[in-house]
Amino acid sequence: QRAARADAPALPGALADGTPIPLLANLGSAAAAPEAAALGAEGVGLFRTEFLFLDAAEAPSVDAQQEQYTRLLAAFPGRKVVVRVLDAGADKPLAFLDASEEPNPALGLRGLRSLRVSEQILRDQLTALARADAATDARLEVMAPMVATVEETRYFTGLARELGIRVAGVMVETPAAALIADRILAVADFASIGTNDLTQYTMAADRLLGSVAGLQDPWHPAVLRLIGEVGTAGAVLGKPVGICGEAAADPLLAAVLVGLGATSLSMSPSALADVRASLAGITRDDAERMAKAALAADGAAEARAAAASERPASG
Ligand code: PEP
Ligand code: MG
Repeated sequence: QRAARADAPALPGALADGTPIPLLANLGSAAAAPEAAALGAEGVGLFRTEFLFLDAAEAPSVDAQQEQYTRLLAAFPGRKVVVRVLDAGADKPLAFLDASEEPNPALGLRGLRSLRVSEQILRDQLTALARADAATDARLEVMAPMVATVEETRYFTGLARELGIRVAGVMVETPAAALIADRILAVADFASIGTNDLTQYTMAADRLLGSVAGLQDPWHPAVLRLIGEVGTAGAVLGKPVGICGEAAADPLLAAVLVGLGATSLSMSPSALADVRASLAGITRDDAERMAKAALAADGAAEARAAAASERPASG
């Protein structure tokens, strides 16, 4: 099976009962696209556009952006490609979108908040994305980072649609967004859960700080419960709920995330094969049982052990 993976596109992600769970790639450059496709990515679940402009002193032009996005979309004909608008601030500073000095950058003007203050940068990015979409035949979806309110969701999806984006969603990275996912998904076309930030904000533990790294663990049942809120809202409203944080790359946790209602998983391409194999060994019932056991646990380690003990033995 290992040899087959290397030469041929891998099978689409699916549970043992046939339920499709698309397995997508997290990318930071168009140059990484061919390798992701070779590793079996069915599309892109998170394209981090800020990585393109880390060294830029000034905001990139519409034309320069259009060229980059066209290269990305052209690498995935017919496939879903989810692009995140610039997520500047805190752990990802951009010179041209820098907030003034803040005591708590992770709680400050970052992500969509900072784009609203510099709205022309957001307008230019959405325009470049819409033009690249028109020039290629990938299925472009665009999402905003660091959303906490329905009003922000309305602002972003409204502007995106005005500028020609056909599918507009938001990331769920704050506990606020998870708790009101039913209201947010009434407005947005989809949600994508960023488990890195959702864990940081739920556990109140800086993701950059080694001294609290033990709390930066998406297995914590508090984090899992919030993910479950989003999954339930998505199922009720018939809207997709993806996962694009590091949690999706953990084969056992990937099964739990599906049990909590995730409809697709996006990860670094090197994790795709193991997650695909893990999901192929369980049914939806298994995933839901594993999720229920993890939700009822007292802590992260206990949740992992509980999920593992509910997982059917691989044959
Ligand atoms: C996340 O927060 O989980 C996420 C996917 O975004 P980033 O890691 O780029 O903040
Ligand atoms: Mg994030």
